[in-house]
Amino acid sequence: MKEECIICGAPLMYLDQEELMECALCHKKESSRAKCVNGHYVCDECHTQGIDRIIGVCLHETSADPIRIIQKLMDMEFCHMHGPEHHVMVGAALLTAYKNAGGNLELESALYEMQSRGKHVPGGTCGMWGACGAGISSGIFLSILTGATPLSGEEWGLANEMTSRALLRIGQVGGPRCCKRDSYLAILTAVEFVKEKLGVEMEKNKVVCRHSGQNNQCIGRRCPFQAGNQ
Ligand SMILES: [Zn+2]
Ligand SMILES: [Zn+2]
Repeated sequence: MKEECIICGAPLMYLDQEELMECALCHKKESSRAKCVNGHYVCDECHTQGIDRIIGVCLHETSADPIRIIQKLMDMEFCHMHGPEHHVMVGAALLTAYKNAGGNLELESALYEMQSRGKHVPGGTCGMWGACGAGISSGIFLSILTGATPLSGEEWGLANEMTSRALLRIGQVGGPRCCKRDSYLAILTAVEFVKEKLGVEMEKNKVVCRHSGQNNQCIGRRCPFQAGNQ
């Protein structure tokens, strides 16, 4: 089933200008440009309900393959085809795989930090800011890993370089956005970057998309993860 609006399943539309909208679930009013063609607006907080479960799942995970980990998260109830939950999931899968690959990291506190920072990256930044949230999530991952702050030297550089490399790959494929494709691209870029810069080798396996049937804007043969394109 192709679904976009989490209330009625109808496609989403983006207005030219922001409008005051009321969340159909919690009735909070805020400005946004996105609603479904039937007029439903769902705020980011309601859209990411259940996201707290990521931490528990990741703490029990033993895999060092971040794609496998994020696919497990994608299969969970809280995860929609598209949505800002991916902004937490990419970094959480990477932190978990990094730890399981022998990386030095206190995973539980790192995951809480990832959730708190990733939740601040709103939906739609890919098109509106020119910075896909899945790409930003890989930069947050690197920042947490290295303890970067705005005052750091080398760590500051690495975190920004991580985001830029992920965004380059995401941008080169072109839109429309797909939160699955962009999450995989950010993760695969991070696996290479961490091996190169930090010497920790996470697992990397072939990725085949399992979600194209649910994506109204699937780019099909242009997608690196379409079956047969690997
Ligand atoms: Zn709707
Ligand atoms: Zn709401």
